[in-house]
Amino acid sequence: MKIAIGGGTGFIGRRLVRYLESCGDETILISRKTSGGIRGERRTIAWDELTANRDHLEGLDAIVNLSGESINQRWTDKAKRRVLQSRLETAAKLAELVGALENKPKVVVNGSGMSVYGTSETDVYDETSPPRVVDFLSGVVVEWERAADAIPAPRLVKLRVGLVLGDDGGALPLMALPYKLGVGGRVGTGRQWVSWIHIDDIVRLIRHCIERDDIAGPVNATAPNPVTNDAFGRALAAALHRPHWLPVPGFAFRLAFGEMADLLLTGQRVLPKAALEHGFRFRYETADEALKAIFRPGTA
Ligand code: NDP
Repeated sequence: MKIAIGGGTGFIGRRLVRYLESCGDETILISRKTSGGIRGERRTIAWDELTANRDHLEGLDAIVNLSGESINQRWTDKAKRRVLQSRLETAAKLAELVGALENKPKVVVNGSGMSVYGTSETDVYDETSPPRVVDFLSGVVVEWERAADAIPAPRLVKLRVGLVLGDDGGALPLMALPYKLGVGGRVGTGRQWVSWIHIDDIVRLIRHCIERDDIAGPVNATAPNPVTNDAFGRALAAALHRPHWLPVPGFAFRLAFGEMADLLLTGQRVLPKAALEHGFRFRYETADEALKAIFRPGTA
């Protein structure tokens, strides 16, 4: 298959490109810039160049869009604006480009997030649950999905990404740090849910969504067994052979990280109903298995 990837230079994108190429697919990166690093090894087009040069996107099997300003930074007003605008702008650009193509991609997989469901310690969410704006991030994701809905592809998948676990990006290296220093413990009450997915499973799920032409709409990219923050910490401690003992009070975490602390202090229990109903088999079903695989000696 021939697949273009926006945000293919990021944490998930890099692994996705490698996985697709290992499956024999041809990849094209869409990036803000075109030169340097990984970009030198494969065809890369800048978002800005695409308007004048749309034929790069004619007749593709799929476009995957994982672009967006990182949320792993202090949420100042400026940063929040960048987080939202970068997502709305890339989705709007895709809508414009796809609308103008003669041979549209068979499917567009646009990034989204599990924050769309809001947060709760008691509710369980799947793709039939309604979006709920309760904080900054849920507001971003609701608007991001609305912008994605304007992409006139024959088939649109909105990939509601959970906490992606890998050793070379995302939040896990930061979460693992206190454990590596021997001072790991639950954050806040420890009762907040962590809906996670192993990086190898999310890239397999993205390809599954491209291949299965009966998948459309929201797809939760989360493993079948979400855990509480406390249980996640225990699994992390076990994978790293370190203790799980020193709780970090919520107020201290908020003092240190500001509003961004909500990322770890609140959560949602999200199940991958659509993926399972459409025959996807997770390689890593429990946080214990996923974290042990990531931190196996010789791999981390
Ligand atoms: P990264 O931050 O690692 O990569 C995102 C990519 O987006 C970058 O490589 C960059 O590509 C592009 N980008 C960065 N800033 C901007 C900007 N201001 N405007 C336009 N493009 C920008 O993200 P991940 O790979 O971790 O995640 C991919 C998507 O999935 C993101 O949108 C993220 O919000 C979402 N997600 C990820 C989760 C996770 O646990 N990792 C959890 C929930 C959602 P380039 O420089 O080539 O333009």
